[in-house]
Amino acid sequence: MSITVEKQLVTLNQDIAGQEIGIPVYRIADSSKPASTQVYIQSAVHAAEMQGSAVIFKLIKQLQALELNAEFVLVPNCNPFGRTQRAGEYLQGRFDATTGNNWNRFYHYDQADAESFVEDNLDEIAHWSEAELVSRFKAHLKRKLTEKVDREWGVNTAQFLNTTLQQLAVNADLVLDLHTGPSSTRHIYAPEFLAEQAQYFNIENIISIPVSFAGALDEASFTPWVDLAELLSQKGIEFSYRVKAFTVELGSQENICLTQAKQDSLGVLNYLQQVGLVDGFAGVELTEITTTLLKDYKTLFSKHAGMVEYLAKAGDKVNKGQVIARVLNSLEFDNDSAITEVIAPATGTVILHYPSAAVQVGTQLYKIAIDS
Ligand SMILES: [Zn+2]
Repeated sequence: MSITVEKQLVTLNQDIAGQEIGIPVYRIADSSKPASTQVYIQSAVHAAEMQGSAVIFKLIKQLQALELNAEFVLVPNCNPFGRTQRAGEYLQGRFDATTGNNWNRFYHYDQADAESFVEDNLDEIAHWSEAELVSRFKAHLKRKLTEKVDREWGVNTAQFLNTTLQQLAVNADLVLDLHTGPSSTRHIYAPEFLAEQAQYFNIENIISIPVSFAGALDEASFTPWVDLAELLSQKGIEFSYRVKAFTVELGSQENICLTQAKQDSLGVLNYLQQVGLVDGFAGVELTEITTTLLKDYKTLFSKHAGMVEYLAKAGDKVNKGQVIARVLNSLEFDNDSAITEVIAPATGTVILHYPSAAVQVGTQLYKIAIDS
């Protein structure tokens, strides 16, 4: 066993003085055995969501002590644009400050990618082994990403960032996109076909999402493979390989905790070992885990503007009818209407709430995983 750690600074942009702005990319592998499998882990594409970077820090240390059955590509603080957008005391890391674009909604996906691949290779495809099919489709997707970034009319900043990160991730068999919520408990988005094995991450709340594309990296990673399998199935070819991808929400933004990061990393290592990507890890004892379908993961929008006291915190169980927040209105301080109570519309678990005490009508006050 001879584990190597390579570090590279990948330039994504330059400031107006020409200074390069880049991201660190770490590659960890056992150089004594060439790995045919790759794992890609990035953090903080929403730049204020930094706990994942602390988790990558812990993973880099721990992976070196394990037996590796894959090459690991780890990219902490992967958004050099959001990383520098400050307003007041906070990073404005979720949206492009110029355009308002969400940094996690512009990954490349096109249903035509799988269609063109099958059409182009119609005669040969049935004779390929699964491994050959996988590597050829990855190469095809990589070409599509390059074509997009290089196209004559250019792409917007979020598309450029997302597509460039995808070029780093496109060879991976497992993709983990590490985020946090605003003021949030730990939860993980898993596609339906991985919802059961997502338990190995040892994260209390799993949100099971349908296989479709809404702009995020996890969806952009697995959806083309499900498309491909469907097209091949129409030709009578069975194809079971899928890229595995998850969005992992590690608590709250604007916060890191190294002690908790160690715990978070143990969950990641437990998953990696359970799916055969590392060996020699002691394992963890699984906590009680709840899986919620995306349709039962509900947003409660504020009906009132004002100053909010959040009575129910992230991770709390709440009952239908329970008062979960109070909104204060200073125009009514001299009468009985100063406080408006916010009621839980259903029984469930509070996954996250808005980070600020100042809200307007329509603010996403709470997200609740309701009991089914
Ligand atoms: Zn995020």
